[in-house]
Amino acid sequence: MIDREFFLGFVKIHILYHAIKEPIYGVEIMRELARHGYDLSPGTLYPTLHRMERDGYLVSRREVVEGKARKYYRATDVGVRMLEQSKKQIMELVREVVDEK
Ligand SMILES: [Zn+2]
Repeated sequence: MIDREFFLGFVKIHILYHAIKEPIYGVEIMRELARHGYDLSPGTLYPTLHRMERDGYLVSRREVVEGKARKYYRATDVGVRMLEQSKKQIMELVREVVDEK
């Protein structure tokens, strides 16, 4: 069982990574995260997306796809910079915690 709060930072990094590559929507990102082993409920994912938008990392746009309203998110420049910064921190973390020499 994964501790949601503990892994939320990883989840946000995933979301940013994918939102930089292409616009993403809730269900799609939930599937992608599940593929990585993060079993997130909509009750956790949607507030996270909203918070990331409020904090300026993502912007959303509504689109109607096959008669359904869908909210697409993509990363802002601030989001892109945050991912770059996160990459450095990830490497630093891996060096200490995983590579431990
Ligand atoms: Zn991914």
